[in-house]
Parts: sequence; C-alpha cells; structure tokens
Amino acid sequence: MNLPVFNLLPNEHLLSWLVRSYKLSGNSSFLNFQNKLGIHDRHLCSNLVFTQALKRIIYQIEEPGNVIKYHTNIPIWQIATGRVLDNGNLNSLSHANEARHFGFGFDTSWHSCRKCRQYDLDKYGTTYWHTSHQLPSVFECYKYHCMLEKGVKPIENLLKEVLPHQVIAWEPVQSHMFKELKYWQCFVFKINKISHDQPTLVASIQSQFFEVFGLDLNYGTDYRRESAICELDFQCFESFLGPELIKYIFRNYTDLTLGGRRNLLDVISIDPICFSFTRNPVYWIALAYWQRANLNFD
Ligand SMILES: [Zn+2]
Repeated sequence: MNLPVFNLLPNEHLLSWLVRSYKLSGNSSFLNFQNKLGIHDRHLCSNLVFTQALKRIIYQIEEPGNVIKYHTNIPIWQIATGRVLDNGNLNSLSHANEARHFGFGFDTSWHSCRKCRQYDLDKYGTTYWHTSHQLPSVFECYKYHCMLEKGVKPIENLLKEVLPHQVIAWEPVQSHMFKELKYWQCFVFKINKISHDQPTLVASIQSQFFEVFGLDLNYGTDYRRESAICELDFQCFESFLGPELIKYIFRNYTDLTLGGRRNLLDVISIDPICFSFTRNPVYWIALAYWQRANLNFD
C-alpha cells in the first residue's frame, strides 16, 4: 500500500504528521489507526529516528527522498552511522541504548517554540511538531531564533497523540546560558546543513577522525594500544569543551561512578556496540567540534 503523505506541512516531523493524520482520520483509537498502517511501534520519541514507525512510513510513501530530508532528522544521523542514508539502507539500523554510558544533559522530549505555534495556528489552523526543533541539543528555533520550549510535563512520546497547542504549560528548554553554548549550537546547525547539502562529507567524518588520531577501525587490533591513544587525548577533549558544555551535552560524563567508561573516545572507537547499534549523533558532533580545525570544519 502506498501511503498518501497528504498535507505534510513545512518542516513538519513525520511523526507529527502521523498524529495529525490520525486526528483527521476519524479513527477511534491512535493504536488502531497505526495498526492499520502496519505500525506497532510504541516509541514515538523525538531523539529516535531508526524506529519501526518511521521506517514503515518511509517505505510506504512514493517519494521518500524529500520526506527523509525535510521531515525527519535522519540526515544529521549520517555523522553517527558513517554512511550516507536513504530509504534503501534504513532497515538494518537500530539505536544503541543511550542510558548505558553518559546520558544526555539536554532535554530529549518534544520541543516547540511560541512564535512557530502562533504562525502555524494563523496560517494552517493547527500547530505541529517541527523537525528542526527536535535536532539533538539545540535550544533555539531555526526560524525565529527564540528559545525552544518543552512541556512543563514533558511530552516524551507522541503515542499520547499530543500536538503543541494541546500542551497546557511550557517552559524554556534551557534557563542557564553561557557563550560556549551558542558556539556549540552554531556547530550543530552547521553539521545539519552539511548533512543535507553534502551527505558524503558528513558520513566521512568518522574515518577522517580515526585517521587524524591514528586509530585503527579494524577488529582484532590491539585494544590496549588503542586505549592508550584514547587516554592521551581524552583530557584534551575535556578541557577543550569545558565542564559546563560537557555537562550540557552529557549529563553523566563526569560521574565517577561510571568509572572506566568515562572516556568518550574509548567508548566511540573501541566499544563493539558501535558496530551494531547507532549512537546519538551528539557523540560524533562533540568529537568533530573538538577537532573541527583538523577536519576542516572551522
Ligand atoms: Zn520555531
């Protein structure tokens, strides 16, 4: 069955469209509506892109290319997968369990902004969840540059079929501002733009990075040697980003109870989970931010 992706609004996230489609469908239950589309996913979260729901919709639509590009945040995930993504290779991808190491310091619920809500209500008669508001770790609107907001009772999962105008109370996603945060966000937006315009370049960041550090991607290599290299550079990474920014990106980064797992380089380059599950792009964006001069992203 080809799914008519009717009425996708500008920059609307595909899962937001799913919620709106349900509301317009006359179906009595969101779960029944999804079941009819062959979707049995219970995690309609803003920071997950390789989910059954998204893959299922993408595979059922006639021209998935533009939908992937403008209605999902899959493009920026190419920095994490290390390869260019299209509808032909999404099926093999799944998410790493992010709670395992650092945890995210930034809010991961669904975000919106006051100005977009007002504009969308006036122009389209509804609000919706924008794709670019959900980019990992950004705190300002891509369009109006005002602070993004989250529900006081955060909307973690759109399974609750909530659109922005139905959220009762909002609060800013970030209350404490510092200048490094602006630089960081600029870099995230930059990587996102490159991931749209030059996907091959973004997908090559991992191999460029390993080359700069002389790390070997092949398995069966000497882990102790790789670990030693990571150990040397780890403190340099920490001091470059600074404690405030690290805490903003990775909540548990400096938590000593995580012991030997604190070394981000170690985890990214050696931990075998990287090869079967994809980590959130912020890990690689943070490494690229640190090494942006060597990677020609300055
Ligand atoms: Zn906005």
